[in-house]
Amino acid sequence: GNSLSTGNLRMKPHILLIHYGELALKGKNRELFEKRLVENIRIALGADRDWDIKRLYGRIAVHVDEGNDVETLVGKLRNVFGIANIAPAVEVKPKLDAIEEAALSLVENKVFESFAIRARRPEKGQSFSSQEIGTKVGAAVQKASGSKVDLTSPALTVGVVVMKRRAFVYADQLKGVGGLPAGSGGKVACLISGGIDSPVACWRMMKRGCHPLFIHFHSAPFTSNASKEKAHEIVEHLMRGQPSAKLITVPFGELQKKIITGVPAKYRIMLYRRFMIRIANELARKNDAKALVSGEALGQVASQTLSNLSTIEDVSEIPILRPLIGMDKQEIVDEAKRIGTFTMSIEPHDDCCSFLMPKNPVTRTTPKDLAHVEKHLNCEELVNAALDGCEEEAIKSA
Ligand code: ATP
Ligand code: MG
Repeated sequence: GNSLSTGNLRMKPHILLIHYGELALKGKNRELFEKRLVENIRIALGADRDWDIKRLYGRIAVHVDEGNDVETLVGKLRNVFGIANIAPAVEVKPKLDAIEEAALSLVENKVFESFAIRARRPEKGQSFSSQEIGTKVGAAVQKASGSKVDLTSPALTVGVVVMKRRAFVYADQLKGVGGLPAGSGGKVACLISGGIDSPVACWRMMKRGCHPLFIHFHSAPFTSNASKEKAHEIVEHLMRGQPSAKLITVPFGELQKKIITGVPAKYRIMLYRRFMIRIANELARKNDAKALVSGEALGQVASQTLSNLSTIEDVSEIPILRPLIGMDKQEIVDEAKRIGTFTMSIEPHDDCCSFLMPKNPVTRTTPKDLAHVEKHLNCEELVNAALDGCEEEAIKSA
């Protein structure tokens, strides 16, 4: 009979069925990846509570218990790297009737012109096929809704995932942020300025699974503390729902004073950048970070010409990753808005790089030119003094 007559409709989704992307991952790597993702999901939902989370055949099922609502939890999971999509689902017995009933209940209040049933059986061993699910459930949904079946571009898709001991049914699927689980990609030292670009660059590397060590250079006490506070605020935002990370703030003012008095003005910015890289290399080494991350985009400012980028890179022992290198400013701005750092970044702050910035900085340099200019400075001593003044802080996921 038609399940409409069972009187057991309006089943509310009580499971979040999570799909991750990057299906190329196999074997041992896949298991590590999944375990890491489950751990990160726990952190994002609130590690202070016990969550029922299962890994099931390439999916992760989070049980939504009493006192929690699906929407709030989905909101928390939307920033979790590695999640491709989230489907609020109903779990039923792996029986055709039960699946049909769940499907009818989920589409009951929806208006849709066309639909498709997409059934999968990641764990074999049922007495019915995916096709049988499609036929039976499809017929029932068609009858109840009056909508037509459209397998190529349906307005609504009912997903069915059948396993040996349970089946999941869902009618909504929300996009996750994608990427790879936080921490699965090793540690990187992110140079975070408080400007628009570097938060986006950090976010992109975090999205690819890198665990960040944040480094911020400031000119306090020669300027206000505004840039430090801002970097802090941005980092806290980036770390929402993520495993905690460290922020190191480096006093840069003394070093800048030496540069300002010791070398021609047009070289200032290049020296600032080279010293930042030297200091960041030391901090990366001490903290076991394998690369630096900067927000440079080719041609955006004088220090970001190809030759100046190589001159900066020349003092680094580890790779400098520049995830924004080929992006337009507007594209970066759009992304900053999407990830929520833009409004923070445009607040005024005493940026240490605009501190006594010359009118005409050099656009073409070689490492040799700079080495010549730096001869007058005791680089090692300057680097060590800055390192001595560093402050560290753990940024907990809010
Ligand atoms: P942003 O918008 O990130 O400030 P920018 O366009 O102002 O970048 P630059 O000033 O040339 O460009 O800085 C290039 C990169 O160097 C930044 O994206 C950032 O990664 C790093 N950087 C610059 N200033 C600082 C700082 N005060 N602390 C840490 N990193 C910095
Ligand atoms: Mg800047």
